[in-house]
Amino acid sequence: MFDLIIKGGTLPDGTVADIGITGDRITAMGRLEGAEAGQVIDATGDLVSPPFVDPHFHLDATLSYGLPRINASGTLLEGIGLWGELKQIVTEEEMVARALEYCDWAASMGLLAIRSHVDTCDDSLKGVAAMLEVRDKVKGYIDLQLVAFPQDGFYRDPTARDNTLRALDMGVDVVGGIPHFERTMADGAASVRELCEIAAARGLRVDMHCDESDDPMSRHIETLAYEAQRLRLQGRVAGSHLTSMHSMDNYYVSKLLPLMAEAGVAAIPNPLINIMLQGRHDTFPKRRGLTRVKEMQAQGITVGWGQDCVRDPWYSLGTADMLDVAFMGLHVAQMSSPEEMRRCFDMVTIENARILGLTDYGLHVGAVASLVVLDAGDPIEAVRLRAARLAVVSKGRVIARNPRGDATLEIAGRPGMVRRRHPVA
Ligand SMILES: [Zn+2]
Repeated sequence: MFDLIIKGGTLPDGTVADIGITGDRITAMGRLEGAEAGQVIDATGDLVSPPFVDPHFHLDATLSYGLPRINASGTLLEGIGLWGELKQIVTEEEMVARALEYCDWAASMGLLAIRSHVDTCDDSLKGVAAMLEVRDKVKGYIDLQLVAFPQDGFYRDPTARDNTLRALDMGVDVVGGIPHFERTMADGAASVRELCEIAAARGLRVDMHCDESDDPMSRHIETLAYEAQRLRLQGRVAGSHLTSMHSMDNYYVSKLLPLMAEAGVAAIPNPLINIMLQGRHDTFPKRRGLTRVKEMQAQGITVGWGQDCVRDPWYSLGTADMLDVAFMGLHVAQMSSPEEMRRCFDMVTIENARILGLTDYGLHVGAVASLVVLDAGDPIEAVRLRAARLAVVSKGRVIARNPRGDATLEIAGRPGMVRRRHPVA
C-alpha cells in the first residue's frame, strides 16, 4: 500500500517505470501492477523527471520590476545602481511577500530547489532576515539555499565585510562574493582569498559572481580555482556567470580550464540574463555574453544553467521556468546535437542538484519523493515545448496540477485538437 503511485511515466533515460511513494520517500520503482495507493497519477506517455533546480537566483529583488524606475541602459551596472536605490525604500514585509509569490510560481513549474544570493550590503540586513523567514516558510515544498552576497563589494562597501559575517552568523548557507566589482583586480583577488578562507573555516560552500563582464583580462576565476585547491574545497565551489571567458585569449583558457577541473570548481552560466546584459558596450561584431559551456564540459567541469533574475532591476521578463533557461542556453551555447540538447535538460536538473550538494535527489528508491510530470515524451521535447507541468510532487505531496499545453483549433472544415508533441520518427 503506497500513499501515491505515479504510473507508467517515461524517465529521462527512456525507461518506463511506475514510482511508488510512501511518506516523503520513493519506496518502489518498476512495474507496480496491482499495487494499491491512496492516490494514483497516470503518467502514461509523459516524461517523469526529478524536479528542476535553479543554482543562481536573487529572491530578495524578484518581482520588483519598475521600482523605483526601469533600467534604461539595460546594463549590469545600472541594475546595481537601481537596486541600490530600491533597497533603501523596500520593506522586509514587501520582500517576503514578493519572494513567497515567486516561490508559488516556482512550485507550479516544478522548480523545487533554489540557490538564492541575498544582498549583505545593507546595515539593517533586512533582506537577510526576510530571506531566512522565506526559507523557513517554504521548506515544506522548496529547498532554498541562501548565499551571503556583498553586492556592492566585500571591500568596496565600507561595512560589507562585517555585514557578510553577520549574515553567515544568522544562518545563511553559502559564502558569496563579487570580485570583478571591487576597486582593483588586486582587491578582487584578495576578496576571493578571504571569502574562501571564511568558507573553509566555517565548513560552508562558496558561490561567487565571478568575471561577470566583457573584460578579457578579468581573471578572478583563476584565483577562485587556486583557493579551492589550496583550501581543499574541491566540489564545494562554484563560479557564477564567468562571462569574461568568452573574450579571453584561447591559449590562456587552455591552461585555465584544466585548473578549474582539478580544483573541482563548477560553473553557473545564466543565459537569459547575460544574453541581455553583456555586449552592451560593443558595436559590431557584438559578443554573445555567454561563457565557454561545451569547452568546460569537455574538461569534466560541472556546468549548470541558472536563471538569475525574474522581473527585477536587471531583467524584465521570466516565469520561474527552468526550461526557458535551458532553451536560451541551448541556443546561445549552440548545443544543437541530440546529446547536447539532452544535456541542457540535465543542466537544469541533475547537474544543478550536484552543484547545490542536494542529497537524496533523483528518481530512485530511497530518494526524496519530489518529481515533475511533463507533457513531453523525452527531455529534448520538454526543452523544445517548455512543456506543461502536468503534476508536481514535492516531498511526497502533490502540490500542483497544470493542464496540457494543447490548443483547440476552430478553423472551418478541420476543427480539432492541436498537439505540439511530435515524437522522433
Ligand atoms: Zn546573480
